[in-house]
Amino acid sequence: MIITHYGEIFTKGQNRCFFQKKLADNIKKASLAKPKLVSQRFVLDAGDEYLAPVSRVFGVTSCSLAEECSPELEEIKEKSLEVAKKMRQPLKVKASRSDKRFPLNSTELARAVAEFLDNNGVELSVKQPESFLEIEVLKDKAFVCYNRLEGVGGLPVGCAGKIVTLLSGGIDSPVASWLLAKRGAKNVFVHFHPFKPGHEKTGKIERIVKYLYPSTLSKKVYLVPFDVFTIASLPLPSRYVLPLFRRFMLRVAEKIAEKEGAKAIGTGESLSQVASQTLDNIAAIQPASSIPVLRPLLAYDKREIIALAEKIGTYELSLEKYNDCCHALLSKNPATACSKDFLEKLEKELPEDLVERTLKETKIMVVD
Ligand code: ATP
Ligand code: MG
Repeated sequence: MIITHYGEIFTKGQNRCFFQKKLADNIKKASLAKPKLVSQRFVLDAGDEYLAPVSRVFGVTSCSLAEECSPELEEIKEKSLEVAKKMRQPLKVKASRSDKRFPLNSTELARAVAEFLDNNGVELSVKQPESFLEIEVLKDKAFVCYNRLEGVGGLPVGCAGKIVTLLSGGIDSPVASWLLAKRGAKNVFVHFHPFKPGHEKTGKIERIVKYLYPSTLSKKVYLVPFDVFTIASLPLPSRYVLPLFRRFMLRVAEKIAEKEGAKAIGTGESLSQVASQTLDNIAAIQPASSIPVLRPLLAYDKREIIALAEKIGTYELSLEKYNDCCHALLSKNPATACSKDFLEKLEKELPEDLVERTLKETKIMVVD
């Protein structure tokens, strides 16, 4: 079986049951097994192939393989020997007891089991162990745990509600969506593309969403064509097309959020990274949306974002070639200090039904 521990949920007071239930649902999706709550940990009947997927479920702080026995010293010793034979050696024994009526304290228990293992040919090392055998004594049972993996932490996806996340083919936005999911948000992805309806070549987006699924549990992507915007913006001064496009993305995203019951928009923006992300431009673009825009990477350097993308595993996928940007939107000299009023004035020259027409051409992709 697998034993799963969680962390921040302990601080949730009266709402703890809600968080525990969400976590149980999400662990079930990752392991296909029904988790049972046993003294503040989840126990699931699943094999070692599910250990790594469970460790990536947000809310999980650690998980281990485990075998159960009764909370009697002799039984614990025998079970530990059985388990130790499967483990890399030398190993170190650790113990904890949540039932303080157990006659030995944690240190004494660890020592007693280690002595027994030593007498039965198991190699031990306190200073340089290859693995840990961990005993957890509860009221009516004990677990002998091994192969512990650190979990990703955070809070269970879904407990913070929904966020419409702008997902490009770049490095930043997959990382941003992962961070939002880590704090319990369910991402509904929105991707803007330059392809004709029916001819979307969005395989890269599909691969990113699919790769992220075990963490984000999100598979819905709104594929929004921006050809209507491109054509409508041709007569406008090219320096302002990009900030106007970003306002257009927010206006579309807000409509999708309304439909989805999402309370915010997420992006992979980072302060001063490119022209559209200067503080002036962020301030001029943001008012296009009446709901909050959340930018989990705002204060991250590109180097830090890349390191995180590598850790999450999306970096290689993000490097795949993808023609997601229409050249008509790119100016050699984009404005770095737009004013909201000026952008709003220019926006009046775009068709009034721009967002509506775009939404009509929008498709929903559900990644399998
Ligand atoms: P990178 O900076 O690694 O090239 P990026 O995805 O961050 O990739 P930016 O041009 O910095 O690209 O865009 C800032 C943010 O705007 C993105 O993180 C994303 O949230 C959103 N965005 C950009 N292009 C698109 C798009 N085609 N569809 C949806 N969202 C987009
Ligand atoms: Mg970026």
